[in-house]
Amino acid sequence: MARGRGQRRRGDRPKRARETAPPVDWLPRTKLGKMVKGGQITTMSDALKTGLPLREPEVVDILLPEVNDEVIDVNMVQRMTDSGRRIKFAITVAVGNNDGYVGIGQAKGKEVGSSIRKAIDNAKLNMIEIRRGCGSWECRCRKAHTVPFAITGKSGSVEITLKPAPQGIGLATGNVAKKILKLAGVQDCLTFTKGKTKTTVNYAKAVFNALQENTQMRVMEKEIKKISIISGSLGPTEAKKTEEQYIEKQPEPEKKEAS
Ligand SMILES: [Zn+2]
Repeated sequence: MARGRGQRRRGDRPKRARETAPPVDWLPRTKLGKMVKGGQITTMSDALKTGLPLREPEVVDILLPEVNDEVIDVNMVQRMTDSGRRIKFAITVAVGNNDGYVGIGQAKGKEVGSSIRKAIDNAKLNMIEIRRGCGSWECRCRKAHTVPFAITGKSGSVEITLKPAPQGIGLATGNVAKKILKLAGVQDCLTFTKGKTKTTVNYAKAVFNALQENTQMRVMEKEIKKISIISGSLGPTEAKKTEEQYIEKQPEPEKKEAS
C-alpha cells in the first residue's frame, strides 16, 4: 500500500475548486461563531480584534470566502506494530486570502484526502492578520507590497529573515516560503535563511513565525505613516492599483540609481 504515495502527492496536487460558500445550516458553538453568524462581526480583522478564541473554521469561511490553500508537506509515517504495518500521513497546509491573512495548520490521519481537509481547517484556526508596507529604502513607493521591516522567524533549526524589497523584485526565496508569502499577499520580499531549510515543515513554520512577529512588533505611529504600513486586507482597489504599477514597471528592468 505504501508505493511512495506521499512523495507523488507533493506539489502536484490538482487545484480543487473548493466550495467555500458559507454553510447555511451551520450552528455555531462558540461566542465568536455566534457573533459572526449573527452579523455583529463582518470582517476578519474585527473577529481577530475581539481576542476571542477562533475554534470554528466556518468563521473564516464566512469572513474570508476567497481563501486559498496550498499543501506544503505530505509526510508518510510508517510504523511496525505487532499487528502489522501502520501507515499515517502527516500533512502541513497553508491557507490565505492573498491579501493580508494567512494561516498554517497540520493534521495526521490514515488517508491523505481527509487529513488535508483537517489540516486546512486547522490552518484556518491559526489565521493571522499580517502587516505590509513599503519598508524598502530603494523603493519608497508607499504601497503595501512588501514587509514593513526585516524580521526573523524561527522553527527548529531553521531561521528565516524576511526583508523588504523594492517593487518588481518578486519573492526572491525558496518554494515553500514563496507559497506562504503569496497566500499572505506579500508581493516582493528578500529572504535569508539559516539551518536545515530542507526540513520543509520547520521552514514553513519559520516563515509563518516571521510574519507573526511582524504583526506583533510594536511600531511608532510616525513609522506607520513613513513605511505606509497596512494591517490586513488592502481591498480590491488598492490591490488593483499595485498590480497596475507592476505592469507599468515591467518593461523597465534596470534598477534605480540611489540618489
Ligand atoms: Zn515600495
